[in-house]
Amino acid sequence: MEETEICVIGAGLSGLALGTALRSEGRDVTILEARDRAGGRVLSQQGYDLGPSWIWPHNHRMLALASRFGLRSFPQYASGRLVFEDGEGAIRSDLDFATMGGALRIEGGLMRVTDALAIQLGQSLRLDHPVRRVTEVGAGVTLLGDNFEIRAARVVFALPPRLTAGFSVAVPDVPTWMAGHAKLIATYNAPFWRDSGLNGDAISHYGPLAEIHDASPVDTRVGALFGFTHPGAARQSGFRDSAIAQLTRLFGPLAATPNDVFVKDWSDDLTTVTQADRARPAGHPAYSAIPPTARLTFAGSEASPIDGGFLEGALAAAEAAHVILSRHSD
Ligand SMILES: Cc1cc2nc3c(=O)[nH]c(=O)nc-3n(C[C@H](O)[C@H](O)[C@H](O)COP(=O)(O)OP(=O)(O)OC[C@H]3O[C@@H](n4cnc5c(N)ncnc54)[C@H](O)[C@@H]3O)c2cc1C
Repeated sequence: MEETEICVIGAGLSGLALGTALRSEGRDVTILEARDRAGGRVLSQQGYDLGPSWIWPHNHRMLALASRFGLRSFPQYASGRLVFEDGEGAIRSDLDFATMGGALRIEGGLMRVTDALAIQLGQSLRLDHPVRRVTEVGAGVTLLGDNFEIRAARVVFALPPRLTAGFSVAVPDVPTWMAGHAKLIATYNAPFWRDSGLNGDAISHYGPLAEIHDASPVDTRVGALFGFTHPGAARQSGFRDSAIAQLTRLFGPLAATPNDVFVKDWSDDLTTVTQADRARPAGHPAYSAIPPTARLTFAGSEASPIDGGFLEGALAAAEAAHVILSRHSD
């Protein structure tokens, strides 16, 4: 049976950050990832973010990580008016307000950050390695997958607590942030809504998109809008067409002919979501650290009291797990 000192389950931002930190100290670490890619909830397609888009100026860990890899941030577009659609479909576009003013995006998409971390891990990162069972045996832990068995002195769960609970480990039942959401991105030749004084923000009680924002690249060589859906809307047949029809209602006829449309329904992705996450939390949950045991440590954003649920929380949780593992470096 293969042996490793530390096994990290999950190569989302948290597991990747922890894995690279441990490796840079020469620790024997293996990162097991269920998906065929690293990044977890961080997912960009052709540079457009289908998972998280934003970081904030106080997210010093994220900003430092991006700059370590030479990646630049730029402000979310916020000049102009917002469009509002009420429950009957009545539209007004006279509100001089931007819902995400002050937020920052990463040029080329956030997955450039997770890809850069993953490259540093080399052979320590094993994709397509879903862990099925975790058993504490004697002085170590055995991890079982479909065609692997690994023995580790210590295991770090770098995944949402609700997924960790599947291993019969005692963790608090806290919602996985944004897991019940779906995102649609429509790309265009230009951010044409800006010419009409619109900032690309929309709030809609009519749907199928509930909240829309400008997702154009920094150099505006093309334009893009993204929307979060109303719950379950992305699973309805005809969703794409009705979303584009909505963008056309809100932003005008040029929105009717996107160059590309990308959709990611996180509420259908079992490497992120559990059934309980389909009912979305009313607000942002209060997350807290999960106490470690002798052999089991918990990372992942939902185990962070600092910015829990967010990207910054994923890095804060990795830092906290690193401190715990540093006490066991003999
Ligand atoms: C649509 C959306 C929008 C968001 N917007 C923002 C935003 O704008 N700003 C922000 O700060 N945050 C945002 N978030 C939250 C942010 O994405 C997360 O906080 C962050 O990515 C969590 O990283 P993580 O490493 O803790 O968890 P994850 O990214 O969930 O990583 C967990 C990893 O574990 C793997 N895994 C699961 N089960 C197993 C198993 N059995 N064996 C092996 N591996 C397994 C998964 O495949 C995954 O790679 C958003 C999230 C979503 C979904």
